[in-house]
Amino acid sequence: MIVILKPKTSKEQIQEVVQEVQKLGYTPHPIYGELQTVVAAIGDERTHHTLESLTVLPQVERVLPVQKRYKLVSRESKPEDTVVDVDGIRIGGENFVVMAGPCSVESEEQLISTARAVKAAGAKILRGGAYKPRTSPYEFQGLGREGLRLLAAAKKETGLKIITEVLSERDVEHVCETADVLQVGARNAQNFQLLIECAKSRKPVLLKRGMSERIEEWLLAAEYILANGNQSVLLCERGIRTFETYTRNTLDLAAVAIAKKESHLPVVVDPSQGCGRADLVKVLCRGAVAIGANALLVEVHPHPAEALSDGQQQVDFEVFSQLISELGPFLNAINRKLV
Ligand code: PEP
Ligand code: MN
Repeated sequence: MIVILKPKTSKEQIQEVVQEVQKLGYTPHPIYGELQTVVAAIGDERTHHTLESLTVLPQVERVLPVQKRYKLVSRESKPEDTVVDVDGIRIGGENFVVMAGPCSVESEEQLISTARAVKAAGAKILRGGAYKPRTSPYEFQGLGREGLRLLAAAKKETGLKIITEVLSERDVEHVCETADVLQVGARNAQNFQLLIECAKSRKPVLLKRGMSERIEEWLLAAEYILANGNQSVLLCERGIRTFETYTRNTLDLAAVAIAKKESHLPVVVDPSQGCGRADLVKVLCRGAVAIGANALLVEVHPHPAEALSDGQQQVDFEVFSQLISELGPFLNAINRKLV
């Protein structure tokens, strides 16, 4: 159920509703909007009292059932866009943010040169995997803690914020020392214990869609993070596995449009894993902007042919900077501004 409060309800009055919801046996999750606050009440409605009685409180406008299984993630519970604050970089609403960097952190020279190049082109967040989920155990697995150290050095040097993947629950704590955003990869998209640990860290989480995951399952995975007290979630479409062989994955732009409709959370598009081809990254970025994405996650490498992972899909500095400079008209068309 959601309890919709009247505009300009005071903190004390919100607290009163939170306590009443709790008394009736539900777990309250206040969601603070710019205009209105709603209190989502999570609990089994078959075994608890109805919350309709709360309408007697003067600050309560309405009490509504939430039909969707993803309650906190749904637009039903929060009509306006969520803006996720990554240490001062705001993603969502009108703001459009570019995150870019190599697939894997490989060396100091590779990372720092890429960080400088993506910053000059307009990116605000540096990506780079220190822990890499590789299909084969004989492939490069990432530099681990040394990779995190290099990311911290790149941050110090350029001021860019850092997004990096966390592969397992036991890594969450130390990855948080370096990361401004925790990336949960496609292969861990429904690793619920990992999602709960990420939620507890209170860091923003970028949640990739699993490669065979339905949109409802993706949104329910995000629900795990919100239900565990962390509202700072970025949904990331990165392509799904289909019968098509011309691309590594099929980038599902319809899923971006649906996620924007169904949820208030910002949606990020990763065109690099999304198609697996450097020659298509630029046009897919345009498509992502046009369909309403709030951010991009793009793989960039100084010498893609020499990359230790995903060389075929990484763009070089020149293509990346051209790609960003050509996004202007697409951003204008949908009233987004590059921050
Ligand atoms: C990546 O971003 O390099 C990556 C491994 O992504 P995904 O989890 O989407 O495959
Ligand atoms: Mn990659």
